Amino acid sequence: MSTVNPFLITRMQDHQFSIFAEMSTLALETKSINLGQGFPDSDGPTEVLDAAIQAIRDGHNQYPPDRGIEQLRRAVAEHQDRFYGQLVDPNDVVISTGAAESLAAATLALVTQGDEVILFEPYFDLYASCISLAGGIRKTVTLNAPDYSFNIDELNEQITSRTRFILLNTPHNPTGKVFSREEMEQIAEVAIKNDVLVVTDEVYEHMTYDGKQHIPIATLPGMAERTLTVSSSGKSFGLTGWKIGWCHGPTEMAKAVHTVKQNLTFASGAPFQPAIAEALALGDDYFEELARDLCAKRDLISAGLTDIGLQVFPASGTYYVTADVTPLGYEDGMSFCLDIPKRCGVVAVPTDVFYDHPTAGKSIVRFAYCKQPEVLNEAVERLSTLKA
Ligand code: PMP
Repeated sequence: MSTVNPFLITRMQDHQFSIFAEMSTLALETKSINLGQGFPDSDGPTEVLDAAIQAIRDGHNQYPPDRGIEQLRRAVAEHQDRFYGQLVDPNDVVISTGAAESLAAATLALVTQGDEVILFEPYFDLYASCISLAGGIRKTVTLNAPDYSFNIDELNEQITSRTRFILLNTPHNPTGKVFSREEMEQIAEVAIKNDVLVVTDEVYEHMTYDGKQHIPIATLPGMAERTLTVSSSGKSFGLTGWKIGWCHGPTEMAKAVHTVKQNLTFASGAPFQPAIAEALALGDDYFEELARDLCAKRDLISAGLTDIGLQVFPASGTYYVTADVTPLGYEDGMSFCLDIPKRCGVVAVPTDVFYDHPTAGKSIVRFAYCKQPEVLNEAVERLSTLKA
């Protein structure tokens, strides 16, 4: 897919290809509706936008403190207490350039050459590149469609003396799975028994439906002392371009991540930090409406995809839904995704690129539904022309 770049270190050669860049280019070329990349097509709450503009006018334009401003670190801690009863010391919160920087800094801080990290596949592709950057080795446990359940024996089998951490992502991209309490208890038991750390990516924490609840794994018994929790404002407030994220964990672990962050970007987005502090304190109605709105969109796209004959897999979180494309006569997700922009003007992404064992996801495609209702309706109408 990509050629060898003589300037690029060997362990990054495999990470040149981005399915999102590829498919977004295709969307532009074919004037398609882009249900590939996961970003909303509307702005976040007006009061949060105004708070950032005010912060610029008030002179928050120079380097903020490297760990993040106290107001935001405090707001993150209050948010964890309010939604999950999780007690976090604001001094153990590190503000980062998106969740992405927390994930990169955590991997670079915790993983050395030859250490292993266990991922649940399909996985968000950034995890794999961060592990490669750190010189680590990726191990995977497969989430199996249709319900994306996993076999706990597989997780036990992947643990070795070199396992540094298990990377959990719930609600899960790309499947839309929300890990249940029972599943997380099983993962926690393995982590505790083998004395390994857990890094948990919870950027979709406010997007759960069907009565499913997001449970931070750090709140399970024995987990606070071994878990780094990562999240971000991008998804929760529809502000993916602001790139304000954070992480928190036990004091020394947070310090370790901070040491790397300090030597990467030092500090992040001055005027956006006070605005996100306000966003985190928005009323419950904001968060409830966010989930209600996305749930209706999930239903709309799922019904549309089912109607054309795809096998849609249940998704109770995030803003993604996955479906098997073989009922429409396609052999694999990639050929479907390369064909439908031309056939009906819609772009989606194949999920096989998010697996180390691509056969598991060969015929599965992900659709992002975080779009305006009229855009989604138009996409469903266009997709309906694929009906046999
Ligand atoms: N984790 C997951 C699972 C994601 O889907 C994304 C964004 N697509 C990120 C992390 C990155 O978040 P941010 O934009 O805050 O860096």
